[in-house]
Amino acid sequence: MTDLTDLGIRDIRDGVRAGTFSAREVAEAFTAAVAAAKPLNAFLVETPEHALAAADAADAARAAGEAPGPLAGVPIGMKDLFCTKGVPSTAASHILEGFTPEYESTVSQKLWDAGAGMLGKLNMDQFAMGSSNETSYFGNVVSPWRRADGGNAPLAPGGSSGGSSAAVAARIAPGATGTDTGGSIRQPAAFTGISGIKPTYGRCSRWGVVAFASSLDQAGPMARDVRDCAIMLEAMAGFDPKDATSLDLEVPRWEAGLNASLKGKRVGIPKEYRVDNMPAEIDALWQRGIDWLRDAGAEVVEVSLPHTRYALPAYYIIAPAEASSNLARYDGVRYGLRDLPDGANLQEMYARTRAEGFGDEVKRRILIGTYVLSAGFYDAYYTQAQKVRTLIARDFERAWERCDVLLTPTAPSAAFALGEKSDPLAMYLNDVFTVPSSLAGLPAMSVPGGVDTGGLPLGLQIIGKPLDEQGVLDAALAIEERAGFVARPGRWW
Ligand code: GLN
Repeated sequence: MTDLTDLGIRDIRDGVRAGTFSAREVAEAFTAAVAAAKPLNAFLVETPEHALAAADAADAARAAGEAPGPLAGVPIGMKDLFCTKGVPSTAASHILEGFTPEYESTVSQKLWDAGAGMLGKLNMDQFAMGSSNETSYFGNVVSPWRRADGGNAPLAPGGSSGGSSAAVAARIAPGATGTDTGGSIRQPAAFTGISGIKPTYGRCSRWGVVAFASSLDQAGPMARDVRDCAIMLEAMAGFDPKDATSLDLEVPRWEAGLNASLKGKRVGIPKEYRVDNMPAEIDALWQRGIDWLRDAGAEVVEVSLPHTRYALPAYYIIAPAEASSNLARYDGVRYGLRDLPDGANLQEMYARTRAEGFGDEVKRRILIGTYVLSAGFYDAYYTQAQKVRTLIARDFERAWERCDVLLTPTAPSAAFALGEKSDPLAMYLNDVFTVPSSLAGLPAMSVPGGVDTGGLPLGLQIIGKPLDEQGVLDAALAIEERAGFVARPGRWW
């Protein structure tokens, strides 16, 4: 029999249902793989007891002839941005060290209700701010990938869901949750050769997810292929009265609806995404993606999204503005860290706790956010950025008059080395292709398209109309079937 850790979500689900193997065997294989993968630093907390208990419940239900849950027997990794009852949840920050929630996030609860088990809490960029996983207080994640051309510097797994991407790529978890505010599901998926979808804003409840930028944050699945993402997203999505921005809509049956034939569909190629200094390999991959979608029956049209170049500046005003407000709650009183030396007053405690508890990138965002919201600069920055956001959303609305989905590269480069991008602006530029669809709240997915000359994965991005996750998944499936992406990292850990 193949190694159970080589199996994806669908295979595990179906194998457990058929009795080919037990959920317990699967959970034991993955918990052992997690324990053996410490050099990746992908997990902040390991919870084998949770994974094994869920597996035993799945096996017992099967033995009793009960109908299995949609994820019965599937162990997954949980990004540490999700609050999990009784399990430390830190958002990879020092300020939340010691915080163990008394409640479960809606998305994680839905996954447990579907029968999934938790392998542990996954490392990430602190408060989901970053593109390389280097802002974690608990040390960066190391990508399981290595360059094939002799350059052997450790690579970034992408961010902020870098623990999730590394764990799935390393096959120590068949799937993982991610969150995406400006690209944090899609860019790490692209860097590690896996798939990940950010659904339409409002599809997944944000309740119990540590807030970064509330008008942008969305949860989504990261898994080995498109079908596995569809299965997992079905379990994660759905209306939640506890989140005022949650959409009160039925969850479509995305897996059953998968259809890789794109006959009658139009795929838009936004010309403004041809940015300066884009590596020729990314451009070539994009062209191959166009050919694949044509081969799947789609008509390809060029479209224009004229305000694309203003998306990054607008995002890096709006996201910090919201973050500065959301992070005001971490003051040493209610959660985690408290720095209160003898004789200190309340004001000193706030200042000391926040100075010690937040990392540099988080402080940078709080400072920027507070500045752009300040009375003297609100109109010049925040109001302007909101106007730009509206223009960007309108660009997409116009594009939908001419096409059903858009195809772009996911990121302007393959994975870079850890430590390579020390300038924050250079790091922000990595989000150039993912941020516009976040600002517009649209569903978007990254799917592996090929490898670069160094043997590193490259991703293609599909962006869809509001609520058209099905269209996004279908186009991604059409690419997956043609790309024949089989590369995987060699095991060095
Ligand atoms: N890299 C982007 C940022 O640092 C996106 C992060 C995210 O999507 N959580 O803000």
